[in-house]
Amino acid sequence: MPIYEYEAKDKRKSCAYCVNSFELLQNISDDRLKQCPHCGNQIIKLISAPRLGLSVSSLDDRAKAAGFQKLKRLGKGEYEKQY
Ligand SMILES: [Zn+2]
Repeated sequence: MPIYEYEAKDKRKSCAYCVNSFELLQNISDDRLKQCPHCGNQIIKLISAPRLGLSVSSLDDRAKAAGFQKLKRLGKGEYEKQY
C-alpha cells in the first residue's frame, strides 16, 4: 500500500497528531482524507510521490538507531536476522 503524507491546513487548530505532517498507509482506491482522524481539522495531501511501503534503508536506520545489529554472526557463515 502506498504511503500518503498529509499536513494540516491551519496548524493553529491542529491537535498533536496533525500539527506536523503525518503519513498514512492507504489503499489506492481509498478516498483521500480531508480531515484529521483525531481532531477533524482540515488537512491537505502533500504533493509527494506515493511511496510503496517503507524503504529497506530506513528500516535499517531504525534498527541501527535502536541499537540492533541487523545480522548477528552465529559462526560458520551462519547469520540470523535480528530485529
Ligand atoms: Zn488533528
